[in-house]
Amino acid sequence: MADSKYDYDLFVIGAGSGGVRAARMSAQYGARVAIAEQQYLGGTCVNVGCVPKKLFVYASAFRDDFTTAGNFGWHVPETTFDWATLLRNKNAEIERLNGIYAKLLDNAGVVLYRDRAVVEGPHEISIDGKRITSRHILVCTGGKPFVPDFPGAELVITSDQAFFLERLPPAIAIVGGGYISVEFAGIFNGLGVETHLVYRGSLFLKEFDQDLREILAKEMAAKGIHLHFDTEIERIDEEANGALRSTLSSGQTLTTGLVMYATGRTPNTESLGLNNTAVALDQHGAILVDDHFQSHEPSIYAIGDVIGRVALTPVAIHEGMLLADNLFRGGKGVMNYEFIPTAVFSQPNLGTVGYTEQQARQRFTKVDIYRSEFTPMKHSLGDTGENVLMKLVVDTETDRVVGCHMLGEGAGEIIQGFAVAIKAGATKGDFDATVGIHPTAAEEFVTMRTAVTG
Ligand code: FAD
Repeated sequence: MADSKYDYDLFVIGAGSGGVRAARMSAQYGARVAIAEQQYLGGTCVNVGCVPKKLFVYASAFRDDFTTAGNFGWHVPETTFDWATLLRNKNAEIERLNGIYAKLLDNAGVVLYRDRAVVEGPHEISIDGKRITSRHILVCTGGKPFVPDFPGAELVITSDQAFFLERLPPAIAIVGGGYISVEFAGIFNGLGVETHLVYRGSLFLKEFDQDLREILAKEMAAKGIHLHFDTEIERIDEEANGALRSTLSSGQTLTTGLVMYATGRTPNTESLGLNNTAVALDQHGAILVDDHFQSHEPSIYAIGDVIGRVALTPVAIHEGMLLADNLFRGGKGVMNYEFIPTAVFSQPNLGTVGYTEQQARQRFTKVDIYRSEFTPMKHSLGDTGENVLMKLVVDTETDRVVGCHMLGEGAGEIIQGFAVAIKAGATKGDFDATVGIHPTAAEEFVTMRTAVTG
């Protein structure tokens, strides 16, 4: 395999979720691999994404847990929260993970360059003042938060800064309708910050099932989050005391200590030297690749957020493994993007796999919808008002379950299990033939019998 014409068989740019996996697997298959990372090992997910986000979600959920504990007879003394402790412990955990990534790369024999890499040609990279050649180059540079241009845009923060705030503000406005804004609204609200979610659409999370979105909005409002739908921020002005006054399209003003924008992410392809090659980008700056992640420049490949397909860590990892297999083990695998499970770590969680009711109605001639809404046992003592919603979407013609959706505690964990069955093509008959685990919320998925067909 080794091609001595080049310094490496594979040079990976970006040591995030996709890059690290592709580099390690390729090295394990015998390739001579190097990887470049300009900032932090593990990329977005480990440093400013999934991992710290989930830790913050755990921190913020304790507030409701204390209330629930009271319903079960516990006397919970007045609670206080110390942001500095959370931040310190979170940072220590992430440093530990950074170290693990370094070790994984080292153990696999991957050469690590801790600097920014620039593509100089189809087989050439410059880094650290050196020119390096490689038979293949893999770009997995991820993405960065996008903030639209408007008066006061320079005053806002994004999720990148939200992970390192010196102190929590008394109030925050979060702008956006995707999962990051919804999750951060739950985080800040749970930690005691007056939270406003501002979104220009009529309801957030537009890729998800309408029923779940509606109930999540109700649950979030019931927890005290101020939802401003059909609303945009027109301008932000800084007041003498440092507070930010947002003027909304509704004419209202909102004064908060911070304004956080979570209005999408753009691929990191700027100033990467791709113009020195035949690599082509789409209108959003994402690298155009074929089914085998090959760009218009045959020696250059790209995976993960930078190709703008499905921006999730497990997807980037899967793409990385496929690519390594294809390049260095003669594989021919292509990524199947159907039935990718995902979760929104809102409070309560939203977990989903497959088609929403709305998508299924467009795709299949007839669908059966099974729906169950109930108070989970944990919340049956006392009035916390948190409901669970579960939904199955079935293609009537084949009886195949094509969508499985849940809003409720543990939805991410539960949907992961059901995703295996759905990916394997399970029918509603298979679900019915499965014995439940009692008493759980998840058993509802195998005991739903009454459908609305249409
Ligand atoms: P990244 O992980 O972004 O890695 C790219 C790396 O490339 C970075 O480390 C960057 O520094 C480096 N780089 C860029 N340019 C260069 C260069 N020229 N030279 C050297 N290095 C360079 N996904 C989930 O599945 N579940 C979640 O719960 C989840 N939560 C998220 C929460 C937030 C707030 C965010 C922002 C994202 C979240 N994601 C989540 C998405 C997930 O983080 C990404 O899909 C994933 O990290 C993509 O991996 P990647 O390898 O494509 O890029």
